[in-house]
Amino acid sequence: MLQPDTPAKCCSYCGGRDHDFEECPKRKADAEKEEVAREPEPAAGAESGQV
Ligand SMILES: [Zn+2]
Repeated sequence: MLQPDTPAKCCSYCGGRDHDFEECPKRKADAEKEEVAREPEPAAGAESGQV
């Protein structure tokens, strides 16, 4: 069950063992979602007529 050739990967994000935290597809998806979620939020009265 344990493969000596395979490094022990354990994603600390979703708990997956087939990838690292850096390669976590879920983390990437969440990161994209966060970026998208940040855009539609208008700055209420932050920039009023400033160029
Ligand atoms: Zn993961």
